[in-house]
Amino acid sequence: MDEKQKYDVVIIGGGTSGCACAYNCAKNGLKTLLVEKNNFLGGLMTGGLVVPIMKSSINDINCDYYKKLIQVSKKYNAQITYKDGNDGWLNPELLKIILEDVLSFDNLDILFETSTESIIYEGSIIKSIILNSNLLSLPIEAQYYVDATGTAEFSILANCDILDSHDKKQQNSLRFILGNVNLEEFCSFIKKIDNNEDITNTYRDEINTNTELHFTTASTWDTLTHWALDKYLQQGVKDGILQESDRAYFQVFSIAGGLGQVAFNCPRIDNYKNNPYMSSKELINARKAIYRLYNFVKQYFPGFQNAIITNIATQTGVREQNRVKTKYVFTKDDLISSKTFNNPVLMANYSIDIHSDKKNGSILQKTSNYMLPIESLISANYENLFAIGKILGADFEAHSALRVQKSCMSMGEAVAKHITKMN
Ligand SMILES: Cc1cc2nc3c(=O)[nH]c(=O)nc-3n(C[C@H](O)[C@H](O)[C@H](O)COP(=O)(O)OP(=O)(O)OC[C@H]3O[C@@H](n4cnc5c(N)ncnc54)[C@H](O)[C@@H]3O)c2cc1C
Repeated sequence: MDEKQKYDVVIIGGGTSGCACAYNCAKNGLKTLLVEKNNFLGGLMTGGLVVPIMKSSINDINCDYYKKLIQVSKKYNAQITYKDGNDGWLNPELLKIILEDVLSFDNLDILFETSTESIIYEGSIIKSIILNSNLLSLPIEAQYYVDATGTAEFSILANCDILDSHDKKQQNSLRFILGNVNLEEFCSFIKKIDNNEDITNTYRDEINTNTELHFTTASTWDTLTHWALDKYLQQGVKDGILQESDRAYFQVFSIAGGLGQVAFNCPRIDNYKNNPYMSSKELINARKAIYRLYNFVKQYFPGFQNAIITNIATQTGVREQNRVKTKYVFTKDDLISSKTFNNPVLMANYSIDIHSDKKNGSILQKTSNYMLPIESLISANYENLFAIGKILGADFEAHSALRVQKSCMSMGEAVAKHITKMN
């Protein structure tokens, strides 16, 4: 295919933020191409098994896509609204189908199993790119390019400046799901042992199903907090079933439309940013830890006796890796001081949330409402390149609050609206 295909906008990465951007570009009439290296959409929401969407946005700024996603997910029985009013509890496997439904537009092409081979630029303008789809080279020309890769792979290929976090890093996690769990039995057990509603709570979805029981609970090895489940994990370590590191962070949720399924936001693993050999070893360690945790819950938690491993994430849970230098780099001070900006991308209040490998090193710091400016999503190196989602231009601490899914979706939506105005 030698002739260049022409688009108004090309979005690289069909994950959390990229899908939001593609939806809004297409809805606004732009000829749009969405490029995804996996054979499904959703990124961390599907391949990473990251559920639920955290409550974060205030005032519904740039939440059209989020609302559409919730509305369509309801149609597939893949959504519940939890008792705290969070309607972002979705089913990660069904989302692969739902996202294709949401993104079905005549003016939107999706290319799966495709990555960028090269980028052709003149001065501060990206002119065209060559994609690689199953070893076939595809020349593409567009007015605007959006890096939604979650890794900044596109921006790095374009030689953009990347922000340095000076050895600060978040732990990664490899999430997994167990099936065939008796939720009634497990919920009556956790309710008896933990009355801290902030950590452990259950909810029967009477609005939709009248039967589905949901819950969330967690445990950490931090000594400053006393979470009820930890004594069971400590016992697991004493009995040789778990390793000490398995106690670091243990968090589980039920899944919308996933009867008898439980999603694990663990184990945590080390984040070797520039060492692929160590990163690969860590994935092997993570799967060993998953097997330990699986055997542990089967033996120690009522309801898990007949559990089976149904999913192990196909995308590693990388919380933070590369952030792109943008026209305005948003800082922790901006966030804490609730600095105001005209036409903000979002208004949110999700906490500063840093997962550390050290005991008592993790931070979950509540914040007031904060805004993000569009300039934090516009590349400092190219006029027609945007960076959205977890690669936005923010410092390490501000990033830890802004990286949640609803905020990433608002970033995609805001950039789509910005491009529409400029086009
Ligand atoms: C372990 C963990 C737990 C979390 N828990 C929560 C939670 O409970 N609630 C919440 O709201 N948020 C949570 N988050 C944060 C949130 O899930 C992410 O920050 C957010 O989903 C990132 O969205 P994104 O669009 O930047 O990246 P992604 O969703 O990862 O999307 C990136 C996409 O780009 C594709 N891609 C990458 N490179 C290329 C390429 N070269 N060419 C084409 N495609 C490419 C990938 O395959 C992927 O589909 C968690 C994150 C992690 C890691």
